[in-house]
This record gives sequence, C-alpha cells and structure tokens, in this order.
Amino acid sequence: MTREKRSFIPTLSDRHTKIVATIGPASADRTVIEEMIHAGADLCRINLAYKTHASHQKLIESIREAEITCKRNVALLIDIPGPKLRLGTLLKDPLPLFTGMRVVLTGTGSASETLVLPVSDPALLPTVYPGDEILIADGAVMLTVLSAKGDQIFAEVRAGGTLHEGNGVVFPGRRPDVPFITEKLKSDLTFAAEAGADYIALSFVSKDADILAVRDFLSSIGSSIPLIAKIEQESAVKNYRAILKVSDGIMVARGDLGVEMPIEQIPHIQKSVITEANLHKKPVITATEMLESMVTRGRPTRAEVTDVANAILDGTDALMLSAETSIGAYPVQAIEMMASIALETEKHLSYREGAGSHEVPDEPVTIGDVISASACDTAMHLNCRSIVAFTRSGKTAHRASSCRPAQPILAITSDPRVYKRLLLWWGVLPVLHTPTISADTLFSDATHIALATGQVSPGDTIVIIAGIPGGNEGSTNLIKVEKIPEEPEMTEKTKGNISGKRVHDVS
Ligand code: PEP
Repeated sequence: MTREKRSFIPTLSDRHTKIVATIGPASADRTVIEEMIHAGADLCRINLAYKTHASHQKLIESIREAEITCKRNVALLIDIPGPKLRLGTLLKDPLPLFTGMRVVLTGTGSASETLVLPVSDPALLPTVYPGDEILIADGAVMLTVLSAKGDQIFAEVRAGGTLHEGNGVVFPGRRPDVPFITEKLKSDLTFAAEAGADYIALSFVSKDADILAVRDFLSSIGSSIPLIAKIEQESAVKNYRAILKVSDGIMVARGDLGVEMPIEQIPHIQKSVITEANLHKKPVITATEMLESMVTRGRPTRAEVTDVANAILDGTDALMLSAETSIGAYPVQAIEMMASIALETEKHLSYREGAGSHEVPDEPVTIGDVISASACDTAMHLNCRSIVAFTRSGKTAHRASSCRPAQPILAITSDPRVYKRLLLWWGVLPVLHTPTISADTLFSDATHIALATGQVSPGDTIVIIAGIPGGNEGSTNLIKVEKIPEEPEMTEKTKGNISGKRVHDVS
C-alpha cells in the first residue's frame, strides 16, 4: 500500500526521517550553521576525533547562537573517538605512497625517515603475520605485512595513495584486547556532559560491557545522557543484540565498518542492524558516504540518492552527513538534497509494512505501548492529520514513532532535555509546553498546539494520546479523537507556552 498523498504543500516538518549534520571547518561559521538548520538539520554532530575541547566548545557556542537566530532547536550529538589507531606525525605531510614501496609502521616514537610511519598509540598495534592486510585512510592506501619485529611492522604498498597525519590505520580482523575506558575517554565524556550533549555516540564499542562501563562513569559524574553505540567493527556486529539491549540508540557507522570488515558485507549488515533496532524500538542512524560526491560537487550521484532512499526504506530513523557538511564545499545543499530525497521516499512507505508490533522482544507489554500503537491505527483509519502525544519521558512518542505512522507525531513535553532528545526520533515533532492537569484543558491545549505548529488546520481531525491524571511517567492511558473546530480560540496561556515550532513562527 502506498501512503496517501495529501494536498498540503510540503514543509520541512512534513519530513519524518531526521538529518544529522556533522559540524567541521566547512560549517564552523555560525551563518553556515543557520543555513544548515533552515535547510533541515535536526541534530548537529561534533566529532571529538579531531581538534581540541576548546575548539569544540566554540563550535557548540556557534550552534547555540544559530538556534536562537533561527528560532529552531537542534539536538547536540557528541561523537567520542574510542580506541582507534591513527598515523602519528609524519616526516612529510602529505606523504604520497606508490605501489611497491616498502614502509615501516612503528610504535616506537617519531618518524626518522620519510617511509617510517609512526602510529598514535602502540598499545593498539595487534599481533600481525606475513600476508596480513593494512588499510590506511579508510582503505585509500593498502599495505601487505612482510614481517614484524617488536613494535615495528615491515610492509609493502599494494595500492598507493596519499597519507596524512591522523589517518586511521586498520588491520582487518586483528585487534588487540585493550580496555575500552581510558583516561582520554573519561575526559571526552566529561567534556560532553559539561557541554550539555543531548546524545553521546561511542566509537568502537565491541560488547555490551563497554556501554555499561560508560554509563557507570557518566552516572558517577551525575550525567544520564543517552548513549548511541556505533556499529563499526566485527566484534560489535557479532555482539550486536547484547549491545542493542543496553544502548539508547544505534549508528551504522559505515566508514570504519567498510575497512574493518569486507566492504561487500555492509549492505546486509546495515539492513539487519536497522531491522533489529526497529524491532527493539531504538532509534538508528545510518552514517557515512551517503552523499559523498557532494564534498566536491553540487549534485550527488544516482547511486548515492538511491543509497539514501534505501536506508529510509530499510527503516532508519536518521541519516547522517559527515565529510559533506564538515569539510565539503556544499554543506547546505547536501542537507537540502537529503531532505528532498527523504520527502520523496517517504511517500512510498507503507504504514502497515513499517508498523512494528506494539510488543518489544523480551519486554512486558505496557498500557502505553498498546495505546501508542492503537493511536497510529486510529490515525490511519480516520485519515487524521496528526497524532498529538503528551509525553513526560518521551516514551509514548518513541512508541508511536516506532509504528512509523504517516502522520507527524506532535510530542508535547515539559522537560527541555526530553524535548531535545525527541528531535532524533522518526516522525516526531517535539513541542515544549508546561503540563496541564485537567482533561478539558489537556484536549484544548492539544488542539491549539497542533494548530500553532502549522501542522493542522481548522476542520482537521487529530488523535490525542495522554495520561489522566497526568504528570507521572508511564501514566499514558487514553486515546481521544478530536475534530479541530472551524474557529478555535487560542488562549494566551497556550500561545505563550509553545516553543517547539520548527517551520513557521508560533504566533
Ligand atoms: C564511521 O566510521 O562511519 C563514523 C561515523 O565514524 P567516524 O566519523 O568517527 O569515522
């Protein structure tokens, strides 16, 4: 079944799939961030793998200022590097390597000769054997191991290319067993907590214990920021179910995945990671090289457009731009392009096919689960314009999002943190609003808020999900179908309380 096309003019908030834009040198300027927010960025990602905490703090300040100027909020996703081996300081940078050259990777300090390549952290050098493959710079340069002695690996260049300091060095299938929590990781986590991150993405997790250890550390510093596990190495793929269970979200980090594992395995890994995340109702981000050619060109390739559309059809909640917005020449156009691919592709999603069961494997069914799923069914059968969910913790909106309804989910919450976090969820348009206690005011608030967001018009029908008496987490217990009167009165109180508008100003 194809989603019914409606006659309203599409606006940004008619897009259900969320967009994560990585901020870097190409987008550090506040005015570029403003344009990216206007173009449709829902989350801004800061990657701590590069530069210093002081420079990241500046970027975060620019994002905050841009939010104010744009009168639109974006969630802040801080990406933490984890144990990744990189090239250290090279004697010559850039360093061109040609096929057949002999090089030495060394963990013993700095480069003494041009073809001696020091690595950032010798503890991350695995035990290697002659014939092993080494991939540098996301696989742009390939080496074959000839021999190894202590901290030195002698190798021959099999496919040449240009090296830079900081390029990733990967030994596919070989990883030393190093502790996940390090002093550097703790310092990055503390930075993310102090910077007010809405989400933390964790690189190179290999098992559930990595997530649990980070959660314990965050809790020791008084933080409970949701954790997104980046699936980017073989052990994470193997232990995926356990990782998913303890994570708050997942990222299919195809950049490192494509060098850590055979690249041809990415498509089916992506599909099964997304399917499983959908089943467990955890948000999932598909990342890397989605519109890669837009780093240098104003238009993507047909294959890239198809890749973005396929990720949406696979069930991703969000799409991520990395080099396109961080170092590319067309950061704003890349977001615009992604938003239009999403809008077009979503027309061909089917609610029935996309709808998850209200059950989550291994978890008891709650009243809220059933109510959210029923509200999505009701909205479809009555051809409602919007689902309005009052949500304290965000859970009711998460559940509705997991059903993948055609209607936008206006998620009304009084908690600014929940409000920001909801920006990641598929189809959710968060609204910050102080709670109402009586049923009558609740329903009229829902109507007025829906109108004020521009998502509904007089005469439209909406489905409201709420809990009476409200105010407590897990109190969701009712569905109400409401027809918006032709001439609704908006109270001053409701007007003043709405702050989640994304497209038009709330007046
Ligand atoms: C990736 O590897 O796809 C990814 C998103 O991680 P990073 O940008 O840190 O390489």
